[in-house]
Amino acid sequence: MISNFPTPYPDELVYSVIARYAVHHGILSPKYLTEELFNSRNLTPTYDLPSHLDRLASYLPDHYDAHSLIQNHTLFPLFQPFQPNSVVNYAVQALRSERTQSLHTKLGKNASRIKSVNFFRFCPHCWQEQMEQYGEVYWKRSWQITGYEYCTKHASPLFVSSVSCNGLDRRYYVAHLNALKDSIQLALNSEDLNKHSELAGLIEELLSNSDTITLKNFSSISVAYFNILKDRNLLSGQKNINYEKVRQLVVDYWGESFLQYYHLGDLRSENCWLKNICRKHRKAFSYLEHLILIRALVPTCSPIHTYQQYLDMAATAIEEQTIQVNVKPETNQIFSDDQIKWIQLIQELPVKSARQKNGALYARLYRSQKEWLLKINQTAVMAPLSPPKPRVDWNIRDRQFMKQLIKIRDELLEDIDSPQWTKKFLIKQLGHVSLIEKNWHLLPLTKTFLERYAESVDCYQIRRLTRTFIHQQTENKYYSPSVFLRLSGLSPERLTPEARRFFDNIMGK
Ligand SMILES: [Zn+2]
Repeated sequence: MISNFPTPYPDELVYSVIARYAVHHGILSPKYLTEELFNSRNLTPTYDLPSHLDRLASYLPDHYDAHSLIQNHTLFPLFQPFQPNSVVNYAVQALRSERTQSLHTKLGKNASRIKSVNFFRFCPHCWQEQMEQYGEVYWKRSWQITGYEYCTKHASPLFVSSVSCNGLDRRYYVAHLNALKDSIQLALNSEDLNKHSELAGLIEELLSNSDTITLKNFSSISVAYFNILKDRNLLSGQKNINYEKVRQLVVDYWGESFLQYYHLGDLRSENCWLKNICRKHRKAFSYLEHLILIRALVPTCSPIHTYQQYLDMAATAIEEQTIQVNVKPETNQIFSDDQIKWIQLIQELPVKSARQKNGALYARLYRSQKEWLLKINQTAVMAPLSPPKPRVDWNIRDRQFMKQLIKIRDELLEDIDSPQWTKKFLIKQLGHVSLIEKNWHLLPLTKTFLERYAESVDCYQIRRLTRTFIHQQTENKYYSPSVFLRLSGLSPERLTPEARRFFDNIMGK
């Protein structure tokens, strides 16, 4: 029976509440902690999207439930407004339950351009206030959000601690004033400070309003964006988007160095985020991309409200089309099952895709009700929005992937904490997993690179040993061989002969 589980402070991460519980109860062992709270010894904490929330809510006073924990104490609200209902429901279930698999892939976080935070961040002035008010400090969720680089209350850039929130040996780290010692303040370009502060404000607004938005499917976002662009006179002709104007608007509003800071500086290439987000949505874009674009398009209004307003309009338009279709006055007839099925299909898909999805249905209708079919097809929701499909030049693609991989590898070399650089892991970093796997034979350079540079088990084990060794040296400690191995996440039985030689060397054997 769990008693005295701490009540979450305003904007505190669930992760941080659990860490405080451990401190209040003097629990030192991470395995003991997770066993006590979750009945599981092998639970890896995630600071942003934690699971087991039903169980945690049961330790708290009655007015807490999983829903309020999700909305106020996790980073899920960043994803919710931009994901279709089906994904949101799946994710909420996963957060509530004893999920073991990560939600990050499902929510597109791993494939996102937006880098998530690797070390916990904080505002020392806020900490001072927390200390005065509560007698302890805690990790606020907004601090751990990329884009929230600046404390709006104290008008100063956040500090990055040396406490890893994504590392291999993740556990529940409590916020501690000692972190001040090894922390560095974020170096923001002084000319961009106002923009960082503005963005932080928009993120706060998003966090508190995200559950008011429900998204039926990606088509509604596509329609919403198309209408915003149309209302801002950013179309050339009836349905082509004038990207140059859109790009100019975004750059003028946010400035190039600001966009580059978030890796959103590329606004010109054919597959850049800006062009893709204006086109048909097939997958979710990140909160940052949405906020930055919508703010630049409609600067006078809160982006989340603009977004909601246009989504509502899109939903109504889609509904009206359905009604028009269903009560066609001149015939007043009841539709056949086939006709209804087809109408439903073209509310979700452009005609061509609908036809591919159910060719037999199309053929039947074409034979029996050709005139009706051609007419109804004009109301297909997405037809005017589908962009021309670019032909893929595999040679160029191959070279691009290779360049990206070199960059990724250079970055990884700095990051001694990263997971094993398997082929799969490296491909995932490129963000085009199925494209690459399906067209393996068309990408000889990428293939060769991956075969040569994927990390073997030997190297990976040696890297983990090295990391512990560095730790030992910087902390000026000495770990016994068994502790040393445990801190490296290894056991004597699992060491490969090569790693064993390396280990023996370190141990001076
Ligand atoms: Zn502050």
